[in-house]
Amino acid sequence: MVETTELKVKIGLEVHCQLTNLKSKLFCSCSSDYRQSPPNTHVCPVCMGTPGSLPVLNRKAVEDAILIALALNMQISNKTIFYRKNYFYPDMPKNFQISQYDRAGGIPIAKNGSKKLDGEKIVHISRLQIEEDPGKISYEGTIETSKSAFVDYNRAGIALVEIVTDPDINSPKEARIFLQKIRSIMEHLGVSSGELEGSMRCDANISIQGGTRVEVKNISSFKEVERALNFEITRQKSLLRTGHRIGQETRHWDEARRVTISLRVKEEEEDYRYFPEADLVPLTISEEEIERQKNSMPELPEGHMQRLMTQYDISRQNAMTLIDNKALAEFFEESADNYSHPDLLGNWIVGDLLSYLYEMDIELKDAKLMPRDLVKMLELIDDGTISGKIGKELLKEMLITGKSPDEIINQKEMRRISDREYLNQLTEEIFSSHPQAVKDAIKDPKAVRFLVGQLMKKTSGKADPQLANSIVNEKLKTSKT
Ligand SMILES: [Zn+2]
Repeated sequence: MVETTELKVKIGLEVHCQLTNLKSKLFCSCSSDYRQSPPNTHVCPVCMGTPGSLPVLNRKAVEDAILIALALNMQISNKTIFYRKNYFYPDMPKNFQISQYDRAGGIPIAKNGSKKLDGEKIVHISRLQIEEDPGKISYEGTIETSKSAFVDYNRAGIALVEIVTDPDINSPKEARIFLQKIRSIMEHLGVSSGELEGSMRCDANISIQGGTRVEVKNISSFKEVERALNFEITRQKSLLRTGHRIGQETRHWDEARRVTISLRVKEEEEDYRYFPEADLVPLTISEEEIERQKNSMPELPEGHMQRLMTQYDISRQNAMTLIDNKALAEFFEESADNYSHPDLLGNWIVGDLLSYLYEMDIELKDAKLMPRDLVKMLELIDDGTISGKIGKELLKEMLITGKSPDEIINQKEMRRISDREYLNQLTEEIFSSHPQAVKDAIKDPKAVRFLVGQLMKKTSGKADPQLANSIVNEKLKTSKT
């Protein structure tokens, strides 16, 4: 029996980000805008690996990679080489992937970077490489039961960067935070949009103290990472707890069933028979080129955060949460420019709006909310037309329907009730149906809250809370005498 609760977890990530700002693939002129297209329509002899075809490197991909390397504090190589990673698998029609490598004479485009998480924690980045995306294989049902595999090569040859970290990450939560930061950097640089399906994916190496390293592949979105890691850690710990060994292997994350399944016993790196891609000359990156990219560097998350704090006077915590999602930060800025209390607005966006999006499992772009409607809703709370509580309901409704606050309020009769006579009448009813509560409230001011609560409940939270309070108290006074 091994005690497993305190065992240290080490996670290293290989993050793949498609360079979605490119118009064409990495080595050919096929359009990179493949998502809505029928399978196998964005292909040519180069990305299909027809003998005799030659790759030509997409210059913009290199510029993107330099920007990313600079943003991740990496050393950029003055000379970089492309390598062939040989493997026999239907997703790569050439039977090799053009990638980069850091051993056997290989030089990736950048090395030795780091990214700080929110606290003091630093995740080291060992290398950044440019490579092509394989095609996409899909299955009927699950990978284990499907009779056939369907291959779509529209994705084969799409430009990717791979960011490889040291095993510095110690929990699934840290992995999620790290990936959020990477996504935010990519979006601030304008090189990769995390909103596009499958544009950011990752593989994870997980080892638990006393066990062997297991690789989990096919984590198809950053959202899935925490889930996949949690499953794998639990699986490994229970093996260790029952005295089993953990073998080195590659496992597949099955998103539908939320389990990892064994794919194959992990191949060693030599199995890939890396060697230099002879069809591409070594790439020289001059100091001037690096300087040029430095000068064209857009605002990065850190600078964006500082600007939000000074320009809108919002808290550091809120600014930090906003910039993790560039679209959310832009939504905030557009709203804040038209509203007099940006701090309050920040709380609504970081608090209620974010948690609704999370609950509904959608991205901001998929919600139907417009900045002007959120501002309008806050103004309705400010002028007393609705309560804050109703505001929350309204926000949810606006997210789903895209209707304006006025439209929803009129439709659902959400306006605050400040009709004294009507509230008096309801209070009367409450007092006669809760005689004991009335007796208690006369003796104990704390018990008044129950009666006010009943009144709020009867009006579905729409009674003006101050008025409700004063009506109940007045009535208690007359009940005493
Ligand atoms: Zn092509």
